[in-house]
Amino acid sequence: MMSSRLVHTATFDVRWFRQRVLRWYDTHKRDLPWRTNYDPYRVWLAEIMLQQTRVAAVVEYYAKFLRRFPTVQALAAARLSSVLAAWSGLGYYRRARALHQAAKKIVKDGAFPSTADQLRSLPGIGRYTAAAVASIAFGEPIAVVDGNVERVLQRVTGKNLSNQERWESAHSLLSRKRPGDFNQAMMELGATICLPRQPQCLLCPVSKHCTTRGELSRAKVEVRHKREICYGLNLRDDAVWLVYRPKSSSLMPGMWELPEIREPNGNHQTALTLKHSITITDYTVRVARGPVSDSVQGRWVRRSRLAALPLTGLARKILQAIQVIQ
Ligand code: SF4
Repeated sequence: MMSSRLVHTATFDVRWFRQRVLRWYDTHKRDLPWRTNYDPYRVWLAEIMLQQTRVAAVVEYYAKFLRRFPTVQALAAARLSSVLAAWSGLGYYRRARALHQAAKKIVKDGAFPSTADQLRSLPGIGRYTAAAVASIAFGEPIAVVDGNVERVLQRVTGKNLSNQERWESAHSLLSRKRPGDFNQAMMELGATICLPRQPQCLLCPVSKHCTTRGELSRAKVEVRHKREICYGLNLRDDAVWLVYRPKSSSLMPGMWELPEIREPNGNHQTALTLKHSITITDYTVRVARGPVSDSVQGRWVRRSRLAALPLTGLARKILQAIQVIQ
């Protein structure tokens, strides 16, 4: 096994490493809502929400989503539009659709899958999520590798590990007694101490056995794009004009948003300008108040219905900024 080459060296004490990581986690872990109850549904929901989304944003959505769908049965019985509405603002809506499909399958099968292999048969669950849920909710001794764990492993070993080597190293380090806690501890270490830039090595519980004690190599500077985009805001006292993204749309199908316009004309007044980022693009968003062209297919949506509507994250942000919704 690769572990014998990378972490099982004469001077590397795996037992010591496990103990240090777990002890540090026990005293320093962040108080997060998905760490109070390891019910599989809750663990799974948190893992899906945390994919590509900041912890701070997930904290808010997680509690709200659980209030709306407290069990996998409640989620399975819900309409997709309600699930998308509860997800609105979290982005990457494919996750919500897969979550809903998977809930239906779990309920139909009559039991929550309890091993990583079984979990991988569900929509939206890959190797990482399956291992995270299986270890945290069911105690299966299986390691996880996400971006945070990968960084810790690369720096501790001082090597640019291949994908296969990362999984094998993580597996060889894993605590068999507390696999769920150990996995969370490694992710926490990467998220709060072994930071991408300026790792906090002086506070690190494993610095004694870390080969690099710092960045392995200069992180690549991410190339970001800039774009301007303009939306029309047509408001009545009790309703707003929205357009529906067709189900066949490759991005955010089935969601509602303000109509995009090329640019404001003489009939428009700029209502606001805001910044919005999606993946590697930073948008400057101008919102112009006024009538929208007749050719734009849309619908008047009553303000009282907006909370239950699957709005795109940007539409929600705009409507919140102008206080149409809270
Ligand atoms: S010593 Fe520094 S670089 Fe090494 S694992 Fe700890 S925080 Fe990361």
